[in-house]
Amino acid sequence: MKLTGIRSIEDLAKDGGLTNKRLFIRVDYNVPLDKKTGEITDDARIRESIPTIKLAVEAGAKVILASHLGRPKPGKHEGLSLEPCGARLSELTGYEVHLPDDCVGDAPKKVIQDLRAGQVCLLENLRFHEEEEKDDEAFARELSELCDVYVDDAFGAAHRAHASVHALPRMVRDRGAGLLLLRELRSLARLMDRPEKPYVAILGGAKVSDKIDVVESLLNVVDSLCIGGAMANTFLAALGKKVGLSKIEDDKLPLARTIMDKARNRGVNVLLPVDVLVANGLDSNVGSEVSVDAIPDGTMALDIGSKTIELFGKEIARAKTIFWNGPMGLFESAPFSRGTFEIARQMSRSEGFTVIGGGDSAAAVRKAGDDVAKGISHISTGGGASLELIEGRKLPGVEALRSNVAEEAS
Ligand code: ADP
Ligand code: MG
Repeated sequence: MKLTGIRSIEDLAKDGGLTNKRLFIRVDYNVPLDKKTGEITDDARIRESIPTIKLAVEAGAKVILASHLGRPKPGKHEGLSLEPCGARLSELTGYEVHLPDDCVGDAPKKVIQDLRAGQVCLLENLRFHEEEEKDDEAFARELSELCDVYVDDAFGAAHRAHASVHALPRMVRDRGAGLLLLRELRSLARLMDRPEKPYVAILGGAKVSDKIDVVESLLNVVDSLCIGGAMANTFLAALGKKVGLSKIEDDKLPLARTIMDKARNRGVNVLLPVDVLVANGLDSNVGSEVSVDAIPDGTMALDIGSKTIELFGKEIARAKTIFWNGPMGLFESAPFSRGTFEIARQMSRSEGFTVIGGGDSAAAVRKAGDDVAKGISHISTGGGASLELIEGRKLPGVEALRSNVAEEAS
């Protein structure tokens, strides 16, 4: 992943380049919301957007923020307004945030017309228009008419070819990347371009099938691969172990065997759990620790056990580079959170370069405590995007920022 041909917001701000300009910043305010109250449960993405916004405000731009939130269906926009995100941004920065009630049409035009240098507005949810996800040119054109300069800072949306990150930037000559997007790209590039060895990857989470491509590409670069979480159950079953009622993917057993064979051929050390916490069901409030050779019938593995924490810990301690994706267990439930939190703690103590990708994994590390999160070199704000980068794919949102991409007359 090279950043050639991509200007940064700092480049764009040189020589008063942003002063009095209408600057469109695509942020990622697709934050998790409480199902009942609709409150923001993790505002990390809003906090992470602030340095770019501050820079824009101080450069005297008229700042136009835009984002998507959730997956609104046609005509069903309830609970998915960006208004709470605007309110949170305002709380965190002290800026007054103007909120037009749409992202295109007369409402934003009017608000933007009245915006003075250094003032901020946040457009309403881009996905309230189906055209956003369709990368629709006419919709992008409407957005392009709102601005003079375009900056993308929405790493979490960079793997999507959607209008606000793909069609739109190509319509604006002065375009570039925000500080968060650049930090994400540089951190993840460090994992791919000659990472310092030993390089250890820790994978877990719900499914093997979500992560096949990432496992394949990690096998080319890592020295060891620690596998935990529900994903590990499929590997244990593939080795012929009885896993009781544990969550596994029956159709992925051959794949798990292929992965282990490939790893062996490439000299990659694969570590699986040696013990697990089992319980009778997902709502159990206690687990018992057993060897993976003695998982009782009628129980399911919901976390890694103490010996496994120690085993993975040894790999973490000797690593110079660590990438982690996917929780080690059902961490949302206190009795099964220890494995995930312990791995987070050990990673945070590492002197090496440590990166965490994946929405649930990032939330888990923050839940493990502020001091734990602080000890991690980089916690990505993009789950899917970080995995796609590690798979070696190009991200449409990043490619659209390059200056050699064909420009359309605007
Ligand atoms: P990420 O969002 O970090 O990529 P995933 O979405 O792949 O992670 O997986 C996260 C989910 O996997 C969490 O909700 C967690 O509870 C669940 N999980 C992890 N291990 C287990 C397990 N052993 N049994 C059931 N669920 C698990
Ligand atoms: Mg997830």
